[in-house]
Amino acid sequence: MVTIANSFADASFNGMKRFAELYARYSETYFCLDPGVTAVVLQGLAKHKETFGEPLCPCRYYEDERSELKAGYWLCPCIPMQERRQCDCMLFLKTEDDFAGDQQTL
Ligand code: SF4
Repeated sequence: MVTIANSFADASFNGMKRFAELYARYSETYFCLDPGVTAVVLQGLAKHKETFGEPLCPCRYYEDERSELKAGYWLCPCIPMQERRQCDCMLFLKTEDDFAGDQQTL
């Protein structure tokens, strides 16, 4: 049985998936060889989007999420990604990265 909470979760996940596929093409990066890594990061982003209304990076610990949201530095795509294509979550990988696959779709 599909619950309302599940359909919100699915919609959030699918929204983040669409964003990631578009941004991978834009940034000329690729998803991880292991699609499970990509899926876990997207789930984390979707959960933060549902909770906070913004895709706060899911791979970091925050003392105070509200001030991080305000600062904007770790909203995906975060500043390190925008400035130098550095994604510590391994969502967006450069071709030379060890675990980069050849897919920009999940
Ligand atoms: S490290 Fe940056 S680009 Fe990668 S998932 Fe986190 S916020 Fe997004």
